[in-house]
Amino acid sequence: MLVVMDEIKQTLKTNGFSGDVEDSAEKLEFYSHDASMFEIKPKLIIAPKTANDVSLAVKLVTDSKRKNKELSLTARSAGTDMSGAAINDSIIVDFNRHLNKIISVKKDKAIVQPGLFFRDFDAKTGDYLLPSFPASKDLCTVGGMVNNNSGGEKSLEFGKTDKYVPELKFIFADGIERIVKPLDRDGLNAKMGQDDFEGKIYRDLFELIDKNYDQIKAAKPNVSKNSTGYNLWNVWDRETGIFDLTQVIIGAQGTLGFTTEATFRLVPRPKHSGLLVLFMHDTHQLGSLIKTVLEHKPATFESFDDATLWLSIRFMPSFLKVLGPVRFIHLLITLIPDGLQLLRGIPKLILMVEFTGNTEEEVRAKIRKLHKELSHVRARYEINGFEEDATEAKSEKFWIMRRYSFQLLRSKVKDKHTAPFIDDLIVNPEYLPEFLPKIRQVIKKYKLFATVAGHMGDGNFHIIPLMNIERESERQKLLPAMKEVNELVLKYHGSLSGEHNDGLVRGPWLEQMYGRDMVDLFRDTKHIFDPQAIFNPHKKANADWDYSYSHIREKF
Ligand SMILES: Cc1cc2nc3c(=O)[nH]c(=O)nc-3n(C[C@H](O)[C@H](O)[C@H](O)COP(=O)(O)OP(=O)(O)OC[C@H]3O[C@@H](n4cnc5c(N)ncnc54)[C@H](O)[C@@H]3O)c2cc1C
Repeated sequence: MLVVMDEIKQTLKTNGFSGDVEDSAEKLEFYSHDASMFEIKPKLIIAPKTANDVSLAVKLVTDSKRKNKELSLTARSAGTDMSGAAINDSIIVDFNRHLNKIISVKKDKAIVQPGLFFRDFDAKTGDYLLPSFPASKDLCTVGGMVNNNSGGEKSLEFGKTDKYVPELKFIFADGIERIVKPLDRDGLNAKMGQDDFEGKIYRDLFELIDKNYDQIKAAKPNVSKNSTGYNLWNVWDRETGIFDLTQVIIGAQGTLGFTTEATFRLVPRPKHSGLLVLFMHDTHQLGSLIKTVLEHKPATFESFDDATLWLSIRFMPSFLKVLGPVRFIHLLITLIPDGLQLLRGIPKLILMVEFTGNTEEEVRAKIRKLHKELSHVRARYEINGFEEDATEAKSEKFWIMRRYSFQLLRSKVKDKHTAPFIDDLIVNPEYLPEFLPKIRQVIKKYKLFATVAGHMGDGNFHIIPLMNIERESERQKLLPAMKEVNELVLKYHGSLSGEHNDGLVRGPWLEQMYGRDMVDLFRDTKHIFDPQAIFNPHKKANADWDYSYSHIREKF
């Protein structure tokens, strides 16, 4: 294999690859990890400078694959994937290093390269916003968001990334970059009439979806957000006559090909926002509370638990690095009243209900109305926000705890490690009062110390256990705990992933969720796009638990 990689390196150079090609021990070690609990060492890293570089690499691997079955390409942007989908044992293609430019921003439309950090993009979109940003918004790239179909705190109001990508540039397995966008019947017929690889993809995928139309539509998970499987149900609509290939590519985790450019539709950035924070000491009234809050149609409805709160307090000084001195001091000052409150006992659950509007008065009125209606719920309330520039100044402390808890766990707790394996389940919020205590029982049964934070309004929870997964005895908990959690999620008609996607960790359980026939359709889809399996193997529908299990991190 090393000889093969030497040949690949040589051929890339002679064919005019203009990016970086690396295989030093430090680089291979660095690219062995993403934010998941897995570890796989690649053999080569390439960081393309142009789409042509990406094409060259894809063509080369396609041509060499017949002789060297182990060759593959895995895209990586910022590497914050929690499912293990940004690592692999062959060639990693780093999009973040060079393919990170904004091509144009015009009010509600932006065209960008995939390796662009969301934070840099967001700073340039003025009065408009890409609203599907994840909690990792300061760390991730827009390409990662597209390929994971990311969502976050604003998804309750705006949905996920798949709603905001009207057009993509995509490199298919034949190494050719093409535009992908929704087509009407004439456009689809024209594509299907082409005598090339693209024509075959459109023909084969149309046939697959049309033949299994009812089964595919019925398989769509009945939750507000889903990142499992391939979004086949959103591709072909017999009623509108629209065939939209972007929908199967978004969220495919780079298993079908590579995104080289994305067009985003942006929404007006809310001018004013305000937060109603509820500190709940007992959660018996959670069911009626969720119902009431959702009836008021908040912009966001987030939550985190007592373990997350403790963690944030314990590691408060580390926020200095994230925030800088001025914001950090402000954070400490705003925390004083909460510190006094905590002396009266740690709340079990903190709920954050955010409203937005065009004027401060409008936001205030919305918050007051909900506050009044919730007066029967035993909880302490805090109302804050209303910043002119929506910088969240006073409410920032809650957002920080909500968004940064996983990062804190990863970087600060040294004797144990984050093990995201039940980190993204979602059920309809109506089931939460029954579902959450049952999930807590599983966590207790396996003696897992875990933080639970999430998007209450969507019923989407991030459970992050802290474990010594380098120990066999701890690793052995993973399979039975995961099976029990999955069964519970499916019993309540949920999905195993609302946002974080399948990768190595959830791919093996797609059959449990969708059944064999549907997983066969996912595998057929992968084969249509990637007949030689050059893109990101062992992920999503082609994942296998034995393989994933054998790559759980052993050293930290
Ligand atoms: C602290 C923390 C909080 C998080 N919170 C959320 C959350 O709230 N919601 C959420 O959705 N996710 C969340 N995540 C997971 C992750 O950050 C997001 O999914 C993010 O969008 C991934 O972006 P990235 O640039 O790091 O992508 P990467 O990790 O580099 O890649 C993600 C996937 O996309 C593929 N990919 C990347 N670039 C391309 C490309 N150009 N072409 C084809 N495929 C490509 C990769 O192969 C991989 O499968 C969180 C992660 C962390 C560490």
